Amino acid sequence: MNNVKDKVVVITGASSGIGEETVSLLSENGAKLVLGARRLDRLEKIQQKIGHNVSIKKTDVTQPDEVNALIETAYNDFGRVDVLINNAGLMPQSFLEKNKQDEWNQMIDVNIKGVLYGIGAVLPYMRKQKSGHIINLASVAGHVVFPGSAVYSGTKYAVRAITEGLRQEEAAVGSNIRTTILSPGAIDTELTDHISDQEMKQGIDEVYKDAIKPDAIARAINYAINEPEESSVNEFIIRPSSQNL
Ligand code: NDP
Repeated sequence: MNNVKDKVVVITGASSGIGEETVSLLSENGAKLVLGARRLDRLEKIQQKIGHNVSIKKTDVTQPDEVNALIETAYNDFGRVDVLINNAGLMPQSFLEKNKQDEWNQMIDVNIKGVLYGIGAVLPYMRKQKSGHIINLASVAGHVVFPGSAVYSGTKYAVRAITEGLRQEEAAVGSNIRTTILSPGAIDTELTDHISDQEMKQGIDEVYKDAIKPDAIARAINYAINEPEESSVNEFIIRPSSQNL
């Protein structure tokens, strides 16, 4: 069974890490891809590597117009949108006492509002098609809070709440729109590079010594998409086997 082949998949934060790895796997399995991120040079390189059935669009998910334009690119280039993966996110964790308001705002804008803008942009298309799948990247930090994770955890708890609300609303109207919450543990990507609080960074680097490669997450996304349309894989938690948090 290949329920991935020929699906039109839009993914935000496709320029590195989990996004880039997911693009690679879905493309191997025959999906048509539309990649969004701010670093266009990275997207161009990925597009060249894949070679066919891939569109790119410079997208800052904090800008609703740009998110709308990303979804429109999918529609214009491939005629439909089967899957939206709201993957863009950042994790500049810090202790609240440090009062890093810019980083709090950034996390809220990208991790929460970016996801909402994606849902808002794609739902009219999916409702009209009477099919679709929205996959949102949460985190283990969306299940547990620890010192320094308060704001990041807050954004990821919000992603889980929003996705569950979406699931219930779409099930109630019978739109056939599937939802998936994916909560990774420590995955070896660029995510920890942006932690400016050095005390926090040391602790996180310790946890990330056992980080696993992002292909573990890409495979889960591929599995959720590949399941038959009547089956909605609603939630995954994927940690390194040795992660105790
Ligand atoms: P990376 O830092 O490698 O990737 C993050 C991606 O988000 C980049 O492609 C970046 O692209 C994009 N991004 C950041 N800000 C914006 C923005 N304003 N607009 C559009 N894109 C943006 O990290 P990961 O691959 O690990 O992260 C992917 C998701 O997985 C995130 O939501 C993260 O919270 C989640 N996650 C990751 C874990 C891990 O351990 N790695 C653990 C739990 C959850 P660009 O800079 O080009 O815009």
